[in-house]
Amino acid sequence: MRVARILIFVALMLTSPLRMQGEGTMLSIVPQPRSVEQREGFFAYSDHLAVVCDKSVENYVGNYLQGGFGPVGVAVWCDPRMELPKGGYKLNVTPRGVQLCAPEREGLLNGFHTLLQLFPANVYERKGVGQCLLPCVSITDWPEYSYRGQHLDVARTYMPVDEIEEFISHLAHHKLNVLHLHLTDDEGWRIEIEGHPRLTEVGAWRGPDEPILPIYDKFNEKYGGYYSADELRHLVAYAAERGVTIVPEIDLPGHSLAIGKVYPEVLCPVERDNSARGGYDGRNVWCVAREENYQLLEEILGQVCDIFPSEYIHIGGDEVSSSWWRDCPHCSALYEERNMQSYAELQAYFMERVSNILLGLGRKPAMWNEATDSGTLPTSVRIHGWEGLEECRKVAEAGYPTVVMPGPYFYFDMRQSKSEHGHNWAGVVTAEKCYSVSLRELGYSPQARANVIGFSGAFWSELHVAYRDDYESYVEYQTFPRVCALSEVAWLPEERRSWGDFEPRLEHHKARLEAMGVSYRRGPPAPPVGRQITPSMRVTTSLPMSRDNALEKLSAYANDYGYRTTRTCHDGDWILYEFDGALRKGTSVELTTGYRHVVRGIFSEGVVEVSGDGVKFRQVANLHNGGATITLAEPVRAIRLRSTRTANGDGYVFVQYPIIRRPE
Ligand SMILES: [Zn+2]
Repeated sequence: MRVARILIFVALMLTSPLRMQGEGTMLSIVPQPRSVEQREGFFAYSDHLAVVCDKSVENYVGNYLQGGFGPVGVAVWCDPRMELPKGGYKLNVTPRGVQLCAPEREGLLNGFHTLLQLFPANVYERKGVGQCLLPCVSITDWPEYSYRGQHLDVARTYMPVDEIEEFISHLAHHKLNVLHLHLTDDEGWRIEIEGHPRLTEVGAWRGPDEPILPIYDKFNEKYGGYYSADELRHLVAYAAERGVTIVPEIDLPGHSLAIGKVYPEVLCPVERDNSARGGYDGRNVWCVAREENYQLLEEILGQVCDIFPSEYIHIGGDEVSSSWWRDCPHCSALYEERNMQSYAELQAYFMERVSNILLGLGRKPAMWNEATDSGTLPTSVRIHGWEGLEECRKVAEAGYPTVVMPGPYFYFDMRQSKSEHGHNWAGVVTAEKCYSVSLRELGYSPQARANVIGFSGAFWSELHVAYRDDYESYVEYQTFPRVCALSEVAWLPEERRSWGDFEPRLEHHKARLEAMGVSYRRGPPAPPVGRQITPSMRVTTSLPMSRDNALEKLSAYANDYGYRTTRTCHDGDWILYEFDGALRKGTSVELTTGYRHVVRGIFSEGVVEVSGDGVKFRQVANLHNGGATITLAEPVRAIRLRSTRTANGDGYVFVQYPIIRRPE
C-alpha cells in the first residue's frame, strides 16, 4: 500500500508540473513567524488526501482544503497541554504530511493561515489546488500583541454586509483578530435598535430632502442603509469563525448629528445661525445634564451588547465640540454645581456614566484618547490612541491598556502618495511608513510598552462615498497593502521587524492578494502626460474670499492649497479664469473646487463653461466631486465654473487655480 502511494507520487512528479510556494527560493510568509526552520524536501499535497481536523475549525478549514478519503495528508488538532503563549501554534511539514497543533482554537487558526501561505496562491480561490509541493518546514510561532485590529467606518459610507464579510476574511488571512466597527456618526446611524425604528428609518439615510443632509458628494440623491440585528449577529458569527472579534463603536457624546436628527432632545438646546453653511445644522453633541439621555443609552447599549459578545464596547469620546456645552444652560449648571475646572471634566463625567452602564451589562468600555484629557478617567478603560504616537505614549504611560493607531501611521484614509485621493492631515501614509512605527525610538518606557496591547489600522469612509464609483474597491485600494504591513507590526516584536526583509515578501504576497480577490493598490498612479504650463491668468469669483489678496495669489498660481471663501456656495455662484492669450486646442485643463484629492468645500453641483472670446460661454462638462478635467476642442480665452446648487455641507468653498497641460 505504502509502496503504491510512493509510486503514484513519483508518477505525479513526472507527469504534472507541481507548483509550490516560493518556486524553490525562500519561504515568504506575511506576517513573518517567530521561528522558521526550512528543511530539505517537500510534501506532495493532493486534494485527494484526507484532512483530519479539530472540530472547532473543521468548517473553516474545509473552505480551503476539501480533503478526500485517501490517507491523511493534513492533521490539525488542539493539545491544551502545549505550552505556548496565547495565539501560538506549531506547524510541521515533513515528506509524510502536515501537522498543525495549538493549545486552543485561536492558535489553530493562526497556524492555518500560515499553512495556507505554504500553498500556491490559488488556494485562496477555494476551488481546490489539485496537487502541489509544500516545502518541509518546522514553524513555532505566536503573536507579540493580543490586539491586532482594523477599524472600519460604515457610518459615513454604508457598506453592504457581504462587502464587510469579504473584508473580514482578508483581515483573518493576515492574522488580524479584531474588526473595530464604527456604527454611528454624524453621517449615519447604522444599527437597528428595537423600539426605536426611526433611528434607522431616518437616521440611516442622507439626501437633499432628508433630515441628514449630504456632505461628501452625492448631493442630489438619497443614499445610505443600515444593518438589522440579525444581519449583525450573522456578521459576528462569520467573523468568529475566522478568529475575528467585532468591537462595535457607538460614538458618544460627539459625532452624534444623526441621532440628533431623530431625537433632537438628546442634544443641548442651543440655537445658532447656520446661514453661512446654507442651513446645515452642526449640532452633534449629547447634552450631559439631561437624565433621560442615560436611560436611552442604557436601552441602546443593552441591545448593542445583546448583538455583540465582545468583552469591550467602544463608546467614542473623540472630537467633542465643548462649545455646545458652554452655551447650554443645563450643562453650564451641572458644570457650576460640580465645580468643574474644564470641559474635559464634563466629558469625563459623561463617559463614566456611560461606562457604568456598560459595566452593569457585564462589559468594559473602550474610548478614544481625548477621553482621558481630564486626568480623572479610571485606568481600567481601554484607550485607542489616534492623534499621534506621543498621545498614545501619554495614555500608555498613564497606565491605560492602549491600542496604538495614530493617524500618521495607521489611518488608511490618508493618501498613499501626494497625487492620490485621500486625506492628508496626517501626511502621506505609505505601507513603509506604517511598517516603520517604533515605540522604542519614540521613548516609550518599558512600562508604557507593556501597556500597549496592540495596533490597529483605521479606515474612515467619508471619501469612500465620493470615490467608490472610480475604483474597483476604494476600501481595498486604501487598506491593502497597508494592512499587510500592519499585520507584521502587530505580530512581531519591534526588534524583529525590518522593511528590507518585509518588502520582498510583500511583493511575493501580492499574488495571494490577487487570488483572494483584493483590489489592492498596485503602485502610484501614472503621472499625467503633457507639459504643465502657467499662462498669464486672472481669477475672479462671485464668492467673498477670506483673504484680501487670495485671488491675486491664485492668479499667480501661488497657493497649492487654494483659498477659502467666507460662505458656502449658492446656486449661480461662479469662479472665472481669464487667460491673456487663448489656450490652444487639445490643451487639458484640470479644474478643482474644494481641496485637491479631498471632496470638501466644493461646488456640490455645477458645470464647466468655456468661451473663445471671453463674452459668450458654452457648457462643456458637469462637475464630478466638485471638479472636472476637460480637453479643449477649440481655442479658449476663459473658463467659468458655475454652481447649480446651494450649500455643500461646509461653511466655505475652496477656490483653486487650474492645472493646465499643453498637448504633447
Ligand atoms: Zn447640555
